[in-house]
Amino acid sequence: MTARPTQTLRGHILHPDGEFRLGSLSFGPQISGLTTEAAPADLLILPGFIDTHIHGGAGGDTMDGPAGIQKLARLHAQHGTTTLLPTTITHRWPEVLAALRGVREVMDSGGVTGGADIVGAHLEGPFISPGRLGAQPPHAVLPQPDLTAELLALDVIRAVTLAPELPGALDLARALAGQGVRIGIGHTRADADTVSAFLHTLHELGARTCATHLYNAMGGIEGRTPGPAGALLADPHAFLEVILDGVHVHPTAFLLARAAAPGRVLLITDAMRAAGLGDGPSELGGQPVTVQDGKATLSDGTIAGSVLTLDVALRNAVRLGLPLPEVSRMLSAVPAASLGLTDRGELRVGLRADLTVLDADLNVKAVYVGGQAIPLQPTEAHA
Ligand SMILES: [Zn+2]
Repeated sequence: MTARPTQTLRGHILHPDGEFRLGSLSFGPQISGLTTEAAPADLLILPGFIDTHIHGGAGGDTMDGPAGIQKLARLHAQHGTTTLLPTTITHRWPEVLAALRGVREVMDSGGVTGGADIVGAHLEGPFISPGRLGAQPPHAVLPQPDLTAELLALDVIRAVTLAPELPGALDLARALAGQGVRIGIGHTRADADTVSAFLHTLHELGARTCATHLYNAMGGIEGRTPGPAGALLADPHAFLEVILDGVHVHPTAFLLARAAAPGRVLLITDAMRAAGLGDGPSELGGQPVTVQDGKATLSDGTIAGSVLTLDVALRNAVRLGLPLPEVSRMLSAVPAASLGLTDRGELRVGLRADLTVLDADLNVKAVYVGGQAIPLQPTEAHA
């Protein structure tokens, strides 16, 4: 094996303590050196973004198999995402299994050249409430031991979304948590007490838990009926996925989560295959979708995933007044912690050289995945 030469970037480097310091960062596959020096530089060097919930992009979808996964991994790397979980949609069981095998195949073949690192799959459904499908097709099923056994044998799931009120949900969650899988609560009609008890049981086992796209497909918060969102916000350990695209979540609802759950909010895209393609017709789980003005909907008006990329989510959060170091944590350190990834998420010597470099206007200027530069395509002006 030939060792790759060490590369060096100079700019304002975001350190794990939340301070930007002018200096240089040296790296091969891992970060090998961080120095502070007064050199003229206007670039911002951040840890690469980690997206734990992403269905598609550039016309590709996780359900398409390896070719679709390659497309989405390359598209989102263009926007600063260096690690992601291809996410399945609720579908007939054989199709879900085939998609999971596709993720495994991509990982086993060495990943996606020119794309984000893939660290496993996010299984979204089919173990969800038929009464809270959102834009998921109507193929929800109950957890069953034989299905659980098939999932465990694949050894590819890193995060799951399930509805805790389903019979058998806790057994499924326990089994997956035993493999280190993050347990997500979503697409649910459970009440707050059910969700709180479910979380409590899992935390006693040492499991990592998460809200799947907080506020979406789980009802609202009322004083007497706080619902799943209230329970997830109130729990001290649950991580909280938020789609900050200006469509899925009201800015105040996002700011509420940020205030209630410091260090627990992570930004995701929930992007579907039309991400990166502009407005026009598309598809989600076999259903026709229309994208107009950056909003993807089914024919009945249901929001159907997003066309968000994480660089846009970053700019949206900054526009709402959040300091960039805090936003960076929501894009890197927090999602890494939610998945139990200890080799990435911050800029520290010894961690993977997953780097996203921005200019002063917060546009992506360079991206490195495990020290490898991603060739960036020229784009029109960023949103
Ligand atoms: Zn989703």
